[in-house]
Amino acid sequence: MRAVISAKDIEDLLAKGGDLKGLPADAILTPSAKDLLRDLVRRGHGTAGTSPNPSGQATISTPPAKPLSSKSPKSELDSFFNSPYCRNLKEQICDIGRRLWQRAYVDGNGGNIAIRAGEDIALCTPTLVSKGFMKPGDMCLVDFEGNQFCGAKNRTSEILMHLQIMKRQLRAVATVHCHPPYSTGFAVAGLVPPTCMIPEYEVFASVGVAPYRTPGTPEMGKLVADLTDKHNTILMANHGVVSWSHNNVEDAYFKMEILEAYCRTILVSTQLGVPPKTMTPAQLQDLLKIKQSLGIPDPRHGLRECELCDNEEWRPGVTCAIAPKAEPAVGLDPEAEAAVQAITDQIMAKLT
Ligand SMILES: [Zn+2]
Repeated sequence: MRAVISAKDIEDLLAKGGDLKGLPADAILTPSAKDLLRDLVRRGHGTAGTSPNPSGQATISTPPAKPLSSKSPKSELDSFFNSPYCRNLKEQICDIGRRLWQRAYVDGNGGNIAIRAGEDIALCTPTLVSKGFMKPGDMCLVDFEGNQFCGAKNRTSEILMHLQIMKRQLRAVATVHCHPPYSTGFAVAGLVPPTCMIPEYEVFASVGVAPYRTPGTPEMGKLVADLTDKHNTILMANHGVVSWSHNNVEDAYFKMEILEAYCRTILVSTQLGVPPKTMTPAQLQDLLKIKQSLGIPDPRHGLRECELCDNEEWRPGVTCAIAPKAEPAVGLDPEAEAAVQAITDQIMAKLT
């Protein structure tokens, strides 16, 4: 079987001092892996003190030598909060906030972003600030209960939801919440977008729907967190979307772009007067293999092909053709069966 190589595999290889020439010649490269390789070739494998990422930007890869937690002395938390490493994280949050605002995924002071910064602490956005115009100095450092340690502004009121996701998913390094109109339209309608239509969506997003609760309440956070074992992007009914990533904050943001573009495209395709075409279950299965190799959760991992692409809400009449279970062979009496058949034949003969 050919190996599937992701961008993360390549980053891990380089982080361990490996050589790209060691990659299997017949390996299947994911689209982001190809992009990363092109970028690496162009930039000569990055420079000392930095590590490449798929966006082509260099990141400062020097986290604190001793992992921080809510139990760390305040002086250590302060010094981390004012360090170049933390400054870089703050700038990443500002950058993502600007992109959310520019794409009209947030409105007013809506939306919030968080990055895991230690065992049980996170850096997050402030309340009452437009996500399009944040500065690094606006950010807040909180523990996983929402208690704020550092930052001149008050942390977002919706932080509990982000923290509950991080508590539930130890791999979650970043979370993004916003209100993109097309996706939120699906959330208001209570509809999970149909599947088997666009590869990007199938590979990178796993969408679930959480019921409505008052924003910022622990109950809302729990309902979302409960879905994160199998989903990385949650439609929050009558509210918006929240996503988490095991890679970085930009990856969590990408899920918003992918979901929003998908919901928009689905709406267009349903207005064209012909039923939308879909990929086959076998084609979807190939995409799910890539998804699994990237470490992205999906409730369909492990399902049989016949159980995939079952969009009944959008394609009435299409159902999963699961083969009926074979009748148990034991217990059948051949003589009784023959008698029943003979009687059936007689009745049929009289009717015709
Ligand atoms: Zn919100």
